[in-house]
Amino acid sequence: MTVPIPAVDQLRSFAASAEDLASAVLSAYESFRNTSDQDGDPNSVRMQAFRLPHAAGEILQAAEDLRVAANYVDGIPQFATNPCEFPWGVCPEHGASLVSSGGCTWCRTCRRAWNYPRLALPCREAARWLLTDQAGDTRHVCDGHATAARAQLIGAHVVPLPDREDV
Ligand SMILES: [Zn+2]
Ligand SMILES: [Zn+2]
Repeated sequence: MTVPIPAVDQLRSFAASAEDLASAVLSAYESFRNTSDQDGDPNSVRMQAFRLPHAAGEILQAAEDLRVAANYVDGIPQFATNPCEFPWGVCPEHGASLVSSGGCTWCRTCRRAWNYPRLALPCREAARWLLTDQAGDTRHVCDGHATAARAQLIGAHVVPLPDREDV
């Protein structure tokens, strides 16, 4: 069982609604323009309508932002049933080798990339190891965090979790 990330479809439907609204605003603008052709006082009609294309553009920009937001949320993997207990991400293979910039993340060692700020989000990988630190505190951790702990945590002790699925 995984915990679903909410709202991706909802964000996409917001974007579609915004695009519909932008089309409606542009149609309204067209009717203003057509009216002005037949109207005795076209300037006053244009005065009413000149903001509409700008408004439609703003709405389309909002739709684009919503689609980017939806893609972004979609790119984040769901939590494993037994997620690692570290509140930041690592490379699943190389541990603490990630760099983030502009909302994206990549591993300095294998160049694998993620299109979300993996370092800033809780680790979502399956926990497969029991980590005991120097102070005796324990956490369930993933392969990447086990690698990072072995490399970085002095006095850390890492053993396989007894109930991990592949043992
Ligand atoms: Zn890597
Ligand atoms: Zn982890």
